Amino acid sequence: MSETIFSKIINREIPADIVHEDELCLAFRDVNPQAPIHILVIPKKPIARIIDACDEDQSLLGHLYLVANKIAREEGVEDAFRLVVNNGEGVGQSVFHLHVHILAGRAFTWPPG
Ligand code: AMP
Repeated sequence: MSETIFSKIINREIPADIVHEDELCLAFRDVNPQAPIHILVIPKKPIARIIDACDEDQSLLGHLYLVANKIAREEGVEDAFRLVVNNGEGVGQSVFHLHVHILAGRAFTWPPG
């Protein structure tokens, strides 16, 4: 997988407002927030899209969601937050390093646009 802006954040080549880091993942505030709370959780392993994940990534994917839960609790939004994964340009993926969006702090409609 080619280098992305997110691998540069992992490698501290560019700054980010990091809210969580462990051996498997990093979470930081989105630079262009779409809600009062907008945080991205990314694996350190370079997986381009969720569709590119394989069987060996099973526990890693679960870890990303458990970290998202932890962050939602820390942010005080555990009762109302949305997790989004965009897969592919056709649905708006713009950075090809897997990321889970945590969005909260405003009203959300369903279905999403
Ligand atoms: P997606 O459209 O699902 O690929 O989401 C990519 C997200 O990354 C967007 O919400 C961007 O605002 C966000 N983003 C891009 N560059 C940065 C950056 N340097 N720091 C934080 N968030 C970023």
